[in-house]
Amino acid sequence: MGYNDFKTRLQKIADIGFASAILSWDQETYMPQKGADFRARQLSTLAGVSHKMYTDEGFGKILAVLKNDASLTQKETKNVSLTLEDYEKQKRYSTEFVEEMSRTVSECFMAWQAAKEKNDFSVYAPKLEKLVALKRKECEILGYKGHPYNALLDQYEKGTTTAEVEQLFEEVKKELVPFVKKIAAAQQVDDGFFYKHYDKQKQWELGIELLKQMGYDFEAGRQDISSHPFTIHFNAQDVRVTTRINENDLSEMIWSCIHEGGHGLYEQGLPAEQYGLPLGETVSLGIHESQSRLWENNVGRSLNYWKKNFSLVQQYFPEQLKDVSAEDFYKGMNKVAPSFIRTSADELTYHFHVLIRFEIEKLLIEGKVNVNDLPELWNSKYKEYLDITVPDFSKGILQDIHWSHGSFGYFPTYSIGSFYAAQFFAQAQKEITGLDTQISEGELLPLLNWLRDKVHQHGKMYTAAELCEKITGEKLNFRYFMNYATRKYAGIYHLSE
Ligand SMILES: [Zn+2]
Repeated sequence: MGYNDFKTRLQKIADIGFASAILSWDQETYMPQKGADFRARQLSTLAGVSHKMYTDEGFGKILAVLKNDASLTQKETKNVSLTLEDYEKQKRYSTEFVEEMSRTVSECFMAWQAAKEKNDFSVYAPKLEKLVALKRKECEILGYKGHPYNALLDQYEKGTTTAEVEQLFEEVKKELVPFVKKIAAAQQVDDGFFYKHYDKQKQWELGIELLKQMGYDFEAGRQDISSHPFTIHFNAQDVRVTTRINENDLSEMIWSCIHEGGHGLYEQGLPAEQYGLPLGETVSLGIHESQSRLWENNVGRSLNYWKKNFSLVQQYFPEQLKDVSAEDFYKGMNKVAPSFIRTSADELTYHFHVLIRFEIEKLLIEGKVNVNDLPELWNSKYKEYLDITVPDFSKGILQDIHWSHGSFGYFPTYSIGSFYAAQFFAQAQKEITGLDTQISEGELLPLLNWLRDKVHQHGKMYTAAELCEKITGEKLNFRYFMNYATRKYAGIYHLSE
């Protein structure tokens, strides 16, 4: 039994996983409505087959032999050790637990949908309570050092601890909260022109141009429409993004294209020869999000980017934007204002939404809050951090899909990703001569090549923390985000720094 047996096995498991991914992609884009039930069945069958292949004793034996094989290269050793860690984790779950979890998640998800439709939390509460209890049990199954939430966080952001996330959000509270208050007291910018009528087809064509400019490879990917934009890959040569177009809000398409484009570029940059192996996969959700946010915010919401691209947007929509300057466009897209919905929040108050979810999740996992008390807790935190009064459940506690899916520990990765993005971008500005000028001329490939070299090509060779040290010489540091925010928004809102 050698490395080739290992590789063949893992790549076959990947074949099944990616075949499921194609079915999921189709489900979200083109599948007719009536296909839903059989599709769920097909996905569940494939998940079962792949789980069985992965946790099978024979595979365990291959891993045990390779673990001590000194003839392997550094990369091969890494692939084996990462797989072994994951294998041992998967083996901790009993079949009964996996089935119970999967059943509870389905029930909880359906209850959430019904609750959202009826704007009634009580429909969802009992199912969520059951799911939270299972999640707490899962922490015990997985094991943890320190806080039980570490076990959940580890599934999305390996190695990151609750204490580290708490530390980051302490800084958000200490620095970002007062900074946003300062902005709120300043003269508000105008973003009204985004909400005129923008033709769907023209928006579509504009989005494609923006993606091409970023270096997204349409021979190894495509874009389609879906109700929630997402990125999915089946291998590094077939990475697909979706977007959403609102004819009464140009901004939705622009930032979903650039955001998903950033995710897509990461996946197109993974080493194809490591297909199906850990070194052919992305590091973590936080690093994935760092790539989308870097393109969306640090590039896509910068004045430099629009020096070139505003005239392009004007060519598509001369009538709507005839009285708007590149500078107005830039200011409007960076309007900061507290809001109820996380996904449409500006890049600063966004982190308050995440902070609130993190604080609540932690209490749930600690068993310190009852599910029935969540709406009140939610609303009081929105009052505290954003100074707004949540009007109803759907604009409040029912807005996100995550908890109904059992995804606890996921939210912090959104903020972590933005903070990594700011730190990486600051490093890129140091290392790429003339980066700002290149961006203002629409030359984005030097930045893409830098990201390919620093992040994409490594797959899972390094953990997020190791990668950050390797790229920037220090660990994740909130100061980079805060510096970026202060400089940018002091300019937009004429604040004294
Ligand atoms: Zn994202």
